[in-house]
Amino acid sequence: MPIYEYECRQCGQRFQQLIMKPEEEKELDCPGCGERKLDRLISRVAYHVSEADRLSTYDPGARQEDSFYRDSRNIGLHAKKQAEKMGVDLGGAFESKLEKLRTDPGSVLKDSE
Ligand SMILES: [Zn+2]
Repeated sequence: MPIYEYECRQCGQRFQQLIMKPEEEKELDCPGCGERKLDRLISRVAYHVSEADRLSTYDPGARQEDSFYRDSRNIGLHAKKQAEKMGVDLGGAFESKLEKLRTDPGSVLKDSE
């Protein structure tokens, strides 16, 4: 079930909301000031799935939405899936590089210079 993060256009308060049905989003208002004009922060979309679940449902052949790429936890998923298919163990070095890429993309670029 997706949890979305919203930012109030009026007071800037951010809050998270579990959305079960698209209609629920229209009913939302800011918990701080009651404003109904909210921006959904697409990059913060959080799904309650583990990386293993992501990997098993990830289809390397499918076209992904822009939001897929904006979710930093999806970085490296493609490479992992390919490696899994070929039976390659990417090892801990790959994992730590991936973690760096996900949390601080700039540092990886500097490292490879
Ligand atoms: Zn507000």
